[in-house]
Amino acid sequence: MNFLEEKILADGIIKPGNILKVDNFLNHQIDIDIMRQIANEFKRRFRGKTVTKILTIEASGIAIATMLADMYDVPVVFAKKGETANCTDDKFVSQAYSFTHKKMNNVFVSRPYLNAGEKVLIVDDFLADGQAMLALIDIVKQAGAEVVGLGVAIEKGQQKGGEILRAAGYHLESIAIIDSMDAEKQTVNFRKL
Ligand code: 5GP
Repeated sequence: MNFLEEKILADGIIKPGNILKVDNFLNHQIDIDIMRQIANEFKRRFRGKTVTKILTIEASGIAIATMLADMYDVPVVFAKKGETANCTDDKFVSQAYSFTHKKMNNVFVSRPYLNAGEKVLIVDDFLADGQAMLALIDIVKQAGAEVVGLGVAIEKGQQKGGEILRAAGYHLESIAIIDSMDAEKQTVNFRKL
């Protein structure tokens, strides 16, 4: 079991509806040592890749993205959510259905912060149905930039996001992959790789 799987077992709370709460170290309080280990692990798994920008989505991806960006010494851009897209001239805009909030969000990045030719590593806290990742990939493509990899801290393997992104040929690295979890028994099973 790796450090993140151990942390999930120690501090994660499974809620009905296939939601894992990790407010103790990732989604509310941020455990800097765990963030550092996540960033180190991504740096190792994406070794040899040229990265000129880290892209994530607000809010919880920002902590991971910032630790990783420090290692690459490149800027972080976080996509913003929720603004109505009536004036899109100055933005790259995509849409994502939010699994946790059960609503459609606009996701956008202002044009100056993503440029053609940039090599973008996209990171996020969770991967579920892949909506957030697909919106971020769409935005990178709109900018004419390149997705060099996708890094996810916790993939919920029982949802379809991972399968879609791997089938599309992206280099996806998930540090912990959950195969099943039980809210009643508070048990989590991880995929053995
Ligand atoms: P997706 O877009 O892949 O369906 O869902 C990923 C996004 O939804 C992530 O950005 C994350 O914020 C949120 N999310 C999805 N599932 C969970 C979960 O079980 N727990 C938490 N804390 N966030 C989740």
